[in-house]
Amino acid sequence: MDCIFCAIAAGGIASETVYEDADIKAFKDASPSAPVHILVIPKAHIESIAHLKANHSDIIVQLIYRAKQIAADKGLRGYKLVFNVGREGGQVIDHLHLHLLGGWGNKENPDKFRV
Ligand code: AMP
Ligand code: ZN
Repeated sequence: MDCIFCAIAAGGIASETVYEDADIKAFKDASPSAPVHILVIPKAHIESIAHLKANHSDIIVQLIYRAKQIAADKGLRGYKLVFNVGREGGQVIDHLHLHLLGGWGNKENPDKFRV
């Protein structure tokens, strides 16, 4: 399988890692859409939210919980968590990923709250 996020999860392609454990990895988005833009992925290949099975519920909780922890670590008081689903939903990479977007409303980025 030729999946760039599987390669990032395995360490075969470099990324700016923010968090990693046995099940998930978080890294900076290479083309950020917000002052803070981090992707949180399962290490196992799941194509998208549309491909979830009932036994994936634990990994989804891990993605969301980790995004919340990273947001807290970075002092974000507000942020967006986004899953793009399918081409018509803006999904370009077919390996499940949660976008953590934030960092607006501070001195450097005072007035931009929407992406
Ligand atoms: P999506 O449109 O939801 O599939 O989002 C894919 C995201 O992956 C985009 O925001 C890209 O900027 C990001 N991206 C693509 N390749 C890389 C990479 N090698 N390292 C980090 N982020 C990437
Ligand atoms: Zn993959």
